[in-house]
Amino acid sequence: MMGGTSGLDQLDELYESIILDHYRNPRHTDLLDSPDIDVEANNPFCGDEVHIQLELDGDAVSGVSVSGQGCAISQSSASLLAEMLKGKSASEALEFVTLVRRMMRGDELTEDEKDRLGDILALEGVKRFPVRIKCALLSWTALEDALSENVGAGS
Ligand code: ZN
Repeated sequence: MMGGTSGLDQLDELYESIILDHYRNPRHTDLLDSPDIDVEANNPFCGDEVHIQLELDGDAVSGVSVSGQGCAISQSSASLLAEMLKGKSASEALEFVTLVRRMMRGDELTEDEKDRLGDILALEGVKRFPVRIKCALLSWTALEDALSENVGAGS
């Protein structure tokens, strides 16, 4: 069905199944009525688009919507991000972005850090394909930009 065009042939099979599951069934895609944060980002190199909405209750992320279109890597990464955000505070979410960035850079991660990443580790193999790293980090960079502004602004 994918006709071998997914570009994922060289990724580990378990990781590939996680990525394709999130690509086909993205989590938390319903738009929010009154988001506190509403950002869109795109990756012109690949045609990927993501739209992130968050509701904040103080520092806590109380509502999440992540949607978009584009390649399997960008969209599964966005869905994994949506799943990560539930129940996090804005500052915890920012720490998580740093962790994902380190993973994609090829930093050695501790077992504890790998545990925290969970299914997001499925994206680690993408670091072997430099052109796709932009796809994987698109939504994370957009989240980081949006939250940094918000957290930095105080209340
Ligand atoms: Zn892409």
